[in-house]
Amino acid sequence: MKLANRYSDMQPSGMVKIFQAIEKMEGVLNLSIGEPDFDTEHDIIDAAANAARSGFTHYPPLQGFVDVRAAVCDYWKRHHGLDATPEEVYMGVGGIQIPSLAMQALLDPGDEVILIEPYFPPYAAQVKAAEGVAVAVRTREENGFAPALDDLKRATTPRTKLLVLNSPGNPTGRVIPRGQMEEIAAFVAERDLLLLSDEIYEALIYRGKHTAFATLPGMKERTLTMGGMSKSHCMTGWRVGYAIGPAELIRVITLIAANQTYGLNTLAQKGSAYALANHDAKLIERRKIFAERMNYVVERLNKMKGVACAPAEGAFYLFPNITGTGLSSEDFVWKLLENAHVATIPGSAFGESGKGYIRIACTCSMENLTKAMDKMEAFLKTL
Ligand code: PLP
Repeated sequence: MKLANRYSDMQPSGMVKIFQAIEKMEGVLNLSIGEPDFDTEHDIIDAAANAARSGFTHYPPLQGFVDVRAAVCDYWKRHHGLDATPEEVYMGVGGIQIPSLAMQALLDPGDEVILIEPYFPPYAAQVKAAEGVAVAVRTREENGFAPALDDLKRATTPRTKLLVLNSPGNPTGRVIPRGQMEEIAAFVAERDLLLLSDEIYEALIYRGKHTAFATLPGMKERTLTMGGMSKSHCMTGWRVGYAIGPAELIRVITLIAANQTYGLNTLAQKGSAYALANHDAKLIERRKIFAERMNYVVERLNKMKGVACAPAEGAFYLFPNITGTGLSSEDFVWKLLENAHVATIPGSAFGESGKGYIRIACTCSMENLTKAMDKMEAFLKTL
């Protein structure tokens, strides 16, 4: 068998390598996975099951049920002031499907996509699969890992079509302040670019308020907003994501996806509509729990020799600087896993700007976070 040239050197990403290593180990305290530890609430499961009993067991409409898309619009209007109609929404198989479809719809071979480091690794693979060219822009912790305008200018060429922004960000947990977003918006307009705004962590903000990029003046027609049910509503296994954007782009995305998935699981859509309409109080409850966990971990990390961690801002990730330990992020993470059975992700898995950092997901109980911090502290004393 001869694989396609572009996939003949396919290797697991730095993130997947850790996940695969953990599968073979026992008793690991897992701070590597970007998945809330809470199960989906039972009333959401009941809503999906009831829909099935009342006959929703057939193929879904290709773009998504109109009532489900309307629930997405209501949610975004209520929480973020974003005005959208169901015509401007596509229901996809996880948030992860959205950038992939957007790139297929938008890129001609050789078109360039700007990715802001450190970034969610699938973006780069999706650019490659769509025959585009990923152009990475470095960022620095001093600037909150937001892109500097000069760096964006240097990275932009006449072939640049799309800029991908992710705030609250994975892996940094940083939130790009509104002022910086406005600068980026002005740049996007000046260079006539489109912006893919990955806002999957919109519900998880601990400081300030989330700014939906599409609500900035003039940005709605240039922005494809990506959201989903995985992180906000603890529905990772349901695989529900969505895109909100210009109707023509949504139309083409829907047609491309028709040849790939033929719509999003009917029951998952019905459960999602219920969750979007009824679970605002739960979002607040869980945000509080994540904030407590993250504040605790930040405090513990900052007492450890060689480790410095900025306060939690968003998502459920912390991205401590570990350069003071003398270890590279890869060595730190693999030694910590092998010697202390605590799993994290090396910052380098998210691009060059992540070197010297590790990603910690606060997605387990306070009890396990306490144990993990005790073990990390003991591990650092052995260096
Ligand atoms: N975008 C970012 C930044 C993520 O961290 C994730 C998941 O970890 C996704 C998108 C995709 O999430 P899902 O496909 O579960 O909706």
